Amino acid sequence: MKKEPFVTKEMIEEIVKDYPTPFHIYDEKGIRENAKAVKEAFSWNPGFKEYFAVKATPNPCLMQILKEYGCGYDCSSMTELMLSAAIGATGEDIMFSSNETPAEEYAYAAKLGAIINLDDITHIDYLETVLGKLPETISCRYNPGGVFTMSNGIMDNPGDSKYGFTQEQMFEGFRILKEKGVKNFGIHAFLASNTVTNEYYPTLAGQLFEMAVRLKEETGAAIKFINLSGGVGIPYQPGQAGNDIYAIGEGVRKVYEEVLVPAGMGDVAIYTEMGRFMMGPYGALVTKAIHEKHTYKEYIGVDACAVNLMRPAMYGAYHHITVLGKEQEPCDCKYDIVGSLCENNDKFAVDRMLPEIDKGDYLFIHDTGAHGFSMGYNYNGKLKSAELLLREDGGVDLIRRAEKPEDYFATFDGLDIYKNLEKEF
Ligand SMILES: *Cc1c(COP(=O)(O)O)cnc(C)c1O
Repeated sequence: MKKEPFVTKEMIEEIVKDYPTPFHIYDEKGIRENAKAVKEAFSWNPGFKEYFAVKATPNPCLMQILKEYGCGYDCSSMTELMLSAAIGATGEDIMFSSNETPAEEYAYAAKLGAIINLDDITHIDYLETVLGKLPETISCRYNPGGVFTMSNGIMDNPGDSKYGFTQEQMFEGFRILKEKGVKNFGIHAFLASNTVTNEYYPTLAGQLFEMAVRLKEETGAAIKFINLSGGVGIPYQPGQAGNDIYAIGEGVRKVYEEVLVPAGMGDVAIYTEMGRFMMGPYGALVTKAIHEKHTYKEYIGVDACAVNLMRPAMYGAYHHITVLGKEQEPCDCKYDIVGSLCENNDKFAVDRMLPEIDKGDYLFIHDTGAHGFSMGYNYNGKLKSAELLLREDGGVDLIRRAEKPEDYFATFDGLDIYKNLEKEF
């Protein structure tokens, strides 16, 4: 697939008059078309629900758009729960899939009526102690151990991952939960990340459906939903073919018909918790080239840094870059595109072939719509950027202002020094 920006240089030149770079910008049209496709792809399952993984893009304006397509919210922390509650999500519109969960977060999730997805068998007692009585509906996260393989080889290594119950613990856990009065059960698993193959969900579903049938037979638990969680990936690289959500939905339907329906479990709801697939391609980091440096390599210094987008520094992740206005020019210059952190991994691209870049050029860093802004931090005292939304009608809304020094220093507000800081704001 060719990677094309959803804005032009001319549009950005207008936008920067109001909102200086760097900023993340999201494409409402793309978000809506994709959310609609996800809904359609699983419409064969009457109970289907996508719980958007809030950690990917915790912005209330974007979360509200997804709500129009029937999405709920998958939360993993107190503040994610608060954000979901603030936009009106209640009860089973919220999935609480966390791990190493503090007591007060369980209590708050239960108060909201969220579905609680337990990460470990010891949390059964923990949750019971926190709440006094277990909720009627509980989900358990499964980890089969070993390696997760598909037809094209090893996909990931669940045996090394900190999440979930072992297979034995799933059976034991369901028995205990049932004895303690839990009525409705869910099964959850997240076994591979950023999979760019239509096989991942169907393969995972096959494993979970077979286990669900056995769990029902052996424990008598009433299994209401199976949560395929996240892990559906996007093509970060040019030339990479993306996932076809309709093929994925159809693949899951086939195993559902093969495994669950004959077992009398044709009423089980399918849930997903996609983050990356829902938002990743529909966000970009726009940054300006402000320096060029010629030493042992050719460097372009930009006004964004790893604080705004951490994935390249953290995982060596590839993010495609388009130099706006130079889309048709040959990529005959080799650059490292770097931010200003005092960390040599603060590079958005290494040895990347790009058109010749001039100071003042705008760079469009693709696919930052998920796990982009939200992974940000404040190293070097750098401030987080604004988030903008490109509306379907071409207008642009500020959906989060850029951080100011006041925000960065706010946590000193109880100290005497704060008065001096305030004078500097
Ligand atoms: C991160 C996460 C997701 C979303 O993962 P994506 O790869 O963005 O789809 C879903 N569920 C849980 C529990 C997660 O931790």
